[in-house]
Amino acid sequence: MKILVSNDDGVHAEGILALSEALSAIAEVVVVAPDRNHSGASHSLTLENPLRVETMAHNGFIAVKGTPTDCVHLAVNELLKPAPDLVVSGINHGANLGDDVIYSGTVAAATEGRHLGLPAIAVSLVGGQHFASAAHYARLLVQALMTQPLPADQILNVNVPDLPLEQIKGMRVTRLGCRHPAEAVIVEQDPRGRPIYWIGPPGATQDAGEGTDFAAIEAGYVSITPLQVDITAYRHLAGLQTWIEGL
Ligand code: MN
Repeated sequence: MKILVSNDDGVHAEGILALSEALSAIAEVVVVAPDRNHSGASHSLTLENPLRVETMAHNGFIAVKGTPTDCVHLAVNELLKPAPDLVVSGINHGANLGDDVIYSGTVAAATEGRHLGLPAIAVSLVGGQHFASAAHYARLLVQALMTQPLPADQILNVNVPDLPLEQIKGMRVTRLGCRHPAEAVIVEQDPRGRPIYWIGPPGATQDAGEGTDFAAIEAGYVSITPLQVDITAYRHLAGLQTWIEGL
């Protein structure tokens, strides 16, 4: 089995190193990741510039001057022959819970894998310390997928509490919760007196109730949410049909 590992924090991140090491024990691993941090890149593609690729001498990781989606797209369609069997993205430095997934480059890299027909997992550590715990669960899930594949029309969004492995209570299947809207834009001045703006931090949790990814993490469990690529609001199809007929 050949696994494509990517991320959005960049090819030098601690998380992608931990992930590639853990998965190398059970499969052939090829790392193709952005040359720098692209957190928050969502599903963007680079269309106006060519993509340059460099293989790093010390570990063989392939750095792409592009987004997470560029990396998976390029790897699957061109760089890796034969194509990989599975895409694993992460380990993200920080949570991808609730509506974080809209902005997440980590989740987008997995989604691109799924879009190209491959099973895919996104793994995030809810913190910045215990990458070994997240790597353990990534390996466990990949091993399980090798012997018991899941239906292909989903990706797994995995969030791991930032705890030593022995303090994690297990795994829970969850739905996405949601946050309050992000906090206000921060306005400052540059040295020439012109305004500059910073996107504010994510909002506090709004729906962190029973069954959500937030609740699982809060209780010390690994959260596993199945995500689908088709975001059609099926429950609104009939109502919208009636609405346009009345126009
Ligand atoms: Mn990130």
